[in-house]
Amino acid sequence: MTPNTIGARVAIVGAGIGGCALGAMLQRAGADVTLYEQAPAFARIGAGIHLSPNLMRVLRLLDVHRHVLVAGQEPAAFVNRDGIDGALLYRLELGDAANRRFGATFVTLKRADLHAALLSALAPGSISWNRRLAGLDWRGERVALRFEDGSEAQADVVIGADGLRSRTREALRGFEKPVYSGQVAFRGSYPRALLGSLAPDDLTKWWTDRRFVLSYWLDRARRDFYFAAMTPQAEWPTDASSMPADVDEMRQLFRTFHPDVRHMLACAPARAVTKWALYERSPQFEFGNERLALIGDACHPMRPFMSQGAAMALEDATVLMRALAGAGDFASAFAVYAKQRTERLTEVHRVSSANTFMRGPTEPDWVFGYDPLSAAASAELPALSPDAWRRRARVSGLHPMSAVAA
Ligand SMILES: Cc1cc2nc3c(=O)[nH]c(=O)nc-3n(C[C@H](O)[C@H](O)[C@H](O)COP(=O)(O)OP(=O)(O)OC[C@H]3O[C@@H](n4cnc5c(N)ncnc54)[C@H](O)[C@@H]3O)c2cc1C
Repeated sequence: MTPNTIGARVAIVGAGIGGCALGAMLQRAGADVTLYEQAPAFARIGAGIHLSPNLMRVLRLLDVHRHVLVAGQEPAAFVNRDGIDGALLYRLELGDAANRRFGATFVTLKRADLHAALLSALAPGSISWNRRLAGLDWRGERVALRFEDGSEAQADVVIGADGLRSRTREALRGFEKPVYSGQVAFRGSYPRALLGSLAPDDLTKWWTDRRFVLSYWLDRARRDFYFAAMTPQAEWPTDASSMPADVDEMRQLFRTFHPDVRHMLACAPARAVTKWALYERSPQFEFGNERLALIGDACHPMRPFMSQGAAMALEDATVLMRALAGAGDFASAFAVYAKQRTERLTEVHRVSSANTFMRGPTEPDWVFGYDPLSAAASAELPALSPDAWRRRARVSGLHPMSAVAA
């Protein structure tokens, strides 16, 4: 980062996955960062999440990859099967094979463990909790942030990392309701003991034309089993994203599936299952303007069928940092970031919506082999060197786990 941006006051709205990662990167580059988060404190919410190799490279950059490796499971393979007869459709070897092929491994774990790892990369006291953004005002050289509790803050630039129902996006485009995709997911997790003698593969997607079941382990010891069973549903009756699930309805909808899938769903205690609406927006991404940059779901929410939501947020953060290193001022960097991300996000959005990724023989390198630290390197987008980055973190006193998520 050049002297133009060192010491700049950066406000990040949303201390979720993308916000924490970008905040930690900006702090290592000398910016004065405050994250404003609507939640009152860190909470272990959310279910299972995939950390694909393109995402793991970013965790390695921030030196928090060991935390997710200790907490999560490194699946031996990503197995794709016909949902009805169980026939193998495509098997992608992971573990060491992923390291060799994609340059990093693949991990499945609880979203809360990923979130805690990223929070630990931030300087202590960087997050202002209980601050729900109401709106933004552009005042000359400054941006004013207005919060629902009546308070205000000022910054040189703002990063919108406030997820699916982004207020920063709304500040630019007005209110746009996220579109219900016509799909719901029953999500559940429960202890391995409840599975009885069934020993599922580490990570499996069971496919039919209309319905899908994804199953994996949430932890290294394979104690917690997770599934997401997705099905079309014409309407979603509430503004809330989730509701308690009717497990009888779920089992009925998947009654024609392979016996192993029926067994996984039958073993789930009713209290352990919730039903989620899947939302998306059109591929009209909103990257922001010269003082506001949007990343992650605020910029480009997408259906979860490639499990790339968190990965795209971390790729965004990394490419934005590279653009800042190349440009020297925020406005030019934001323009480079938007230009660089459009093509990849469009393709991931398209393939996610089609829900075809890995249904049969697949070339997954374009997704998992992508290196956000060095892809398309140029003078305006220099590559990031993890070693130089670690030295910088040591100099700035920002060691991983220096700020325990609290
Ligand atoms: C509580 C929660 C649970 C999730 N669980 C899963 C899961 O189990 N599996 C999965 O694959 N994906 C899950 N996701 C989605 C996934 O984490 C994101 O799609 C992905 O990580 C993209 O990250 P992001 O940084 O864009 O947004 P997020 O990680 O969603 O972070 C957005 C942050 O902004 C905050 N925020 C929103 N509005 C405001 C506002 N007005 N003012 C201040 N702060 C605001 C939110 O509280 C949140 O912390 C979950 C998201 C959330 C918020």
